[in-house]
Amino acid sequence: MPLLDFQKVERRFPVKRSFGDLLVNRKPVYLHAVRGVDLAVRQGEILGIVGESGCGKSTLARIGIGLQPSDGGRVLFDGHPLEGPDREGRLQMVFQDPYSSLNPRMTIGAQLEEVVARYRPQMPRGDRQAEVQRILAEVSLVPETALKFPHALSGGQRQRVSIGRALCADPQVLIADEPVSALDASVQAQIINLLKGLNRDKGLTIIFISHDMNVVRYLCDRVAVMYLGEIVELQECTSLFATPQHPYTQALIDAVP
Ligand code: ADP
Ligand code: MG
Repeated sequence: MPLLDFQKVERRFPVKRSFGDLLVNRKPVYLHAVRGVDLAVRQGEILGIVGESGCGKSTLARIGIGLQPSDGGRVLFDGHPLEGPDREGRLQMVFQDPYSSLNPRMTIGAQLEEVVARYRPQMPRGDRQAEVQRILAEVSLVPETALKFPHALSGGQRQRVSIGRALCADPQVLIADEPVSALDASVQAQIINLLKGLNRDKGLTIIFISHDMNVVRYLCDRVAVMYLGEIVELQECTSLFATPQHPYTQALIDAVP
């Protein structure tokens, strides 16, 4: 059984139109961002989702962690339908810009402790600080990081913090939405290797969203190719690059420098 199972997932957004346009046609016009996506994510894999900007990757990711409802279809986690954000923190997400999920007015230690407290209430209060330190070490950050505020960190350190923050919930699935797209190449490689290690050592299931085929090729076990809201192809990573089936996949591979 797949760990996370998207079944015929749909999402439309109403298109904003001018007054004149509305006079001519009163019916709402929709942009179909996600079209009937079927995707079965296996326990313990790193699944890549690639496709150009605007093809619906982030919308699919938000639906996948229950952050946003779908207009059709459903998502099953461990066989049970997701209804709204997961209260147990089993699905966590990190974003391209780590600022978007970090509180600028709280120390790193305090915000990580807060996540431990929220999702693991059974842990005694006195153990939280040690748990945060264990997680900081897991994402290769020095212990003093706990005392700092987000602005005092580099982009790469902030992304390590947001991965650590997700780990504080002890998740089973991590969805990383373009987590390295805003980072320098050398820092990108470090974060990619961090994710690879978390998958290898903890068996963390990772959905890795990217438009960078080189990164996907290095990191992922399987790759889904998304185009105009649809998944047009899904293959083992090595066979996708060796024998792409869809012309769009071929175009993505051909465009790699
Ligand atoms: P990607 O992550 O692949 O770049 P997105 O999922 O962000 O794609 O967006 C898919 C499409 O849906 C885009 O055309 C985008 O403009 C549109 N879209 C996304 N979120 C919204 C929203 N909240 N309101 C209206 N349109 C949206
Ligand atoms: Mg996106």
